[in-house]
Amino acid sequence: RARIGIVGGGQLGRMSAVAASRLGYEVHILSDSQPSPAAETAARFTVGSYDDPACLEKFARSCDVITFEFENISTAGLSHLSRFCPVHPSGHILEISQDRIAEKTMLGSYGLPVAPWKEIASPDDLRSLPAFGFPCILKTTRFGYDGKGQFRLPDETAFQGILQKAESLPYPLVAEQQIDFAREISVMVARGTDGTIRCFDVAENHHRQGILRASIVPAPIMPELAQKAQTLAATLAEKLNLVGIMGVELFEERNGDLLVNEIAPRPHNSGHWTMNACLVDQFEMHIRAVAGLPLPPARRHSDAYMHNLIGPDDMALLPELLQEENASIHLYGKEEARPGRKMGHVNRIFPRGGMPGDMVLSHYQPRLED
Ligand code: ATP
Ligand code: MG
Ligand code: MG
Repeated sequence: RARIGIVGGGQLGRMSAVAASRLGYEVHILSDSQPSPAAETAARFTVGSYDDPACLEKFARSCDVITFEFENISTAGLSHLSRFCPVHPSGHILEISQDRIAEKTMLGSYGLPVAPWKEIASPDDLRSLPAFGFPCILKTTRFGYDGKGQFRLPDETAFQGILQKAESLPYPLVAEQQIDFAREISVMVARGTDGTIRCFDVAENHHRQGILRASIVPAPIMPELAQKAQTLAATLAEKLNLVGIMGVELFEERNGDLLVNEIAPRPHNSGHWTMNACLVDQFEMHIRAVAGLPLPPARRHSDAYMHNLIGPDDMALLPELLQEENASIHLYGKEEARPGRKMGHVNRIFPRGGMPGDMVLSHYQPRLED
């Protein structure tokens, strides 16, 4: 049996492992923590450090191909793995996606639009920030997820607040203009070893406190805009020589232009709707791509409303959700429902064109948070 290795033991690893074992692969997971959502879905599960060469070598020798769900494995770690076993997507793409400056520079070099940004390399750079303008968002360059490591600076007063701690911030930072977008959308794009590219339909995404809350598919946008977003994602996949799946997060500006927010070269939360609305979901598409199998068209048979189950409040809704007749429930097997922790998600599925209008429309109302 061919063996697929997955670095990272979170829910993305868990769902990738399920897809891989459904395709008949033997799944080996390397995780740096013991209680891990992916542990129970893999044939072999190893706990070890992503920085320990001996551990990486042993893992790599037990696999025929390796992919990752955890984005912050070091470049050195990844290149060590790839000495013993092919790794997809390549370390080059991972390196770019780990670093917002490298990411924005790459996007710019391909002529793809991003929000105006500036590197803040030092407290002095920070002090000269007002020239850049408010509102803006300060982001850590590395290791941010779910909006962690971000500071919103709506105005001069907030800026004065952050200046107080200027000396203790983790430089380099990135300052980005805060975009008054019409909506957030994303595209999941997969590229196979033979260069075949498949794009799933565009999702409209809603965040709360920096965390993805819900995705609505199809995004209620004009077909031309959806096409433009998919073409942009396909261009990126091609330019980056992607093998595997990648999430491309975009802002739709009020004038209809698109800006790329960030990329994630792995299965992505905003692609979870595919698990019930597509014949082949993002995880199977990803595994097929990294394993060198053909990629079928990313066909969507249903409309979907994906809702994350975050923290104890959402988990309390579970008994009700289980009563719903068109809701498919996915839980990640995490023990403790801490606030802000993604515990699972629900896919509400409707025949194409059959999503109740109020489910879509409720999201046109002004955002209450952020
Ligand atoms: P993820 O979990 O998606 O990796 P992250 O921590 O990398 O999150 P971002 O995707 O950069 O963070 O930002 C999180 C959310 O914050 C975005 O989805 C968007 O809602 C909001 N946001 C980020 N940057 C901007 C911006 N320049 N203008 C307006 N809103 C923004
Ligand atoms: Mg991110
Ligand atoms: Mg994001």
